[in-house]
Amino acid sequence: MAKVTLPDGSRLDVADGTTAAHLAEQIGPGLAKAAVAAKRDGQLVDLSAPVNGQAAVRIITARDDEGLEVMRHSCAHIMAEAICSIWPDTKLVYGPTVEDGFYYDVDLDEPIRPADFQRIEEKMAEIVKADEPFVRKEMTRTEALAKLAGDKYKTDNISHADSDIISFYSHGDDFEDLCRGPHVPSTGKVGSFKVMSVAGAYWHGDPTQKMLQRVYGTAWPTEEELDGYLRRLDEAKKRDHRVLGKQLDLFSFNEAGPGFAFIHAKGMVIWNAIVDFWRGVHDKYGYEEIRTPIILNQELWHKSGHWDNYKENMYFTNFDDADYAIKPMNCPGGCLVYKTQQHSYREFPMRVAELGLVHRHEASGVMHGLFRVRQFTQDDAHIFCTPGQIEAEIIGVIELTFEIYRAFGFEDFHIELSTQPEKHIGSDEIWQIATDALEDALKHKNIEYKINQGDGAFYGPKIDFHIRDCLKRSWQLGTIQLDFSMPQRFGLAYTDRDNTEKTPVMIHRAVLGSFERFIGILIEHYGANFPLWLSPEQVRVLPISEKSNDYAKIVEGKLKNARLRCSCDFSNEKIGAKIAKAHSEKLPYMLVVGPKEAQSSAVNVRIRGIKESKTVGIDEFLRTANGKIADKKIDLA
Ligand SMILES: [Zn+2]
Ligand SMILES: [Zn+2]
Repeated sequence: MAKVTLPDGSRLDVADGTTAAHLAEQIGPGLAKAAVAAKRDGQLVDLSAPVNGQAAVRIITARDDEGLEVMRHSCAHIMAEAICSIWPDTKLVYGPTVEDGFYYDVDLDEPIRPADFQRIEEKMAEIVKADEPFVRKEMTRTEALAKLAGDKYKTDNISHADSDIISFYSHGDDFEDLCRGPHVPSTGKVGSFKVMSVAGAYWHGDPTQKMLQRVYGTAWPTEEELDGYLRRLDEAKKRDHRVLGKQLDLFSFNEAGPGFAFIHAKGMVIWNAIVDFWRGVHDKYGYEEIRTPIILNQELWHKSGHWDNYKENMYFTNFDDADYAIKPMNCPGGCLVYKTQQHSYREFPMRVAELGLVHRHEASGVMHGLFRVRQFTQDDAHIFCTPGQIEAEIIGVIELTFEIYRAFGFEDFHIELSTQPEKHIGSDEIWQIATDALEDALKHKNIEYKINQGDGAFYGPKIDFHIRDCLKRSWQLGTIQLDFSMPQRFGLAYTDRDNTEKTPVMIHRAVLGSFERFIGILIEHYGANFPLWLSPEQVRVLPISEKSNDYAKIVEGKLKNARLRCSCDFSNEKIGAKIAKAHSEKLPYMLVVGPKEAQSSAVNVRIRGIKESKTVGIDEFLRTANGKIADKKIDLA
């Protein structure tokens, strides 16, 4: 008998060797129908996998993130078969999932073009309709290597496998692929799919290797969800921050500085509004602010470990016969400021923030508007504390971070914990202590998190904050990184309660990450319809004719006195044209004024996105507008 524990803690006794699919049937027919895979003792397996002895089993459906991934990856196999059947010379490389979909890298001399996508999709639809089971076959590494001798891609995949049992999956009569699995039980279970795009990709991302073709696809549990996704993509195109940024004169790029953003006057208004808010919140949470130089000598970067671990991303310069580097991070500068004073445990925790301008070299091919730049302002901070204060400090950072995200209307966020990478400094023991401290804080706050094995910074483990924008796209913004190494390298010290000299713990953290990138995200999230507090111009006064210009000036004066960012349109255009122009500039409020309004000290208010206008007293308008700014309200009505 196999003793199975289900996610709700209940137990089920079944015959040894019962498959996860049969188990799902015993739990309920609805679950059995929705099932795409199972989790057996934490490991994702096929529904055909047997259950033996004592096991914790969870049935996975396409409603689980993992189930969706299994579904999408299975769809990659189906797309691979379709491509191979259309182009029999295709050599398959690998087909993993990515955010919202999957791809398959293929080696094929003939280029696949968007015009071919429909053919591929039709072939895929045939395979799905046949609803053939995915069948797993296992063999030893030696057998697998013999079977695939001559296939350099698949033998390379085998050399990267972490198990000596190598598995193959087939569906139908003549398609088989080397794969670790798991997959959906049959080809009919991959939901609604679409071939999206094709791009060149080097094997292993290595430019000295052959250029392959990477064919992207997406799959969703239902047709409706696929349509919703395609609509969101369409909407994202319309909201492209590079287009809106140019249209609204927020920022630009110039070949004189590839990857270096020029922020224009209106962009700076948004920037400064964020800085003011950011400073206020940091003040409330007990931070001080400093500023450190962007050019520091090479010796310092050797000491910090950046030279050995981060050199490829740094810029260098030389003057007065000495070598310098342009800072890619603010931490070493922060350590030097710390060292200018003697410190005692009484001052701890010391929270020191810096809006630091950093430069990191990115390959020219990966730059993308404000999302990926070579120079950016990081909203950095370093917290120096005792080991006993770590947990409370991490919790404080989490609270501050959530408060800041909510102010911008981001409510959907999740957290990932990244652990020790291969390339790192510091002992395994220190890494364990640091990782445990981060996990304890998350558990204490009852926050769910995902673990990214081996994805930490070279100096310590980290927590990353991800937000979802209104188009359901995920963005990594903030980070908390625990560091026991750098304080030692810099010889930082404090006098503890027992009068001995100790090394402080250093916590690196950023909330928005990069100001440039964050503004790019905001532009797309709001579609440049910024909330009032972030709008470059908040109100425009529109006199209906020249006769009302004097009253318009009076209104403008009152707006300015109330510290609203405003202007007056004194052009000779008709009122309709003035309104249209203000609309195209995404003005939150337009105040139309004529003789009637002048008589009663009123304004006719038009709100962005709302058809009807409303006449109110000027003082009432000022109160409402300033209230919305003070409360960081997202909506204007
Ligand atoms: Zn597979
Ligand atoms: Zn740092």
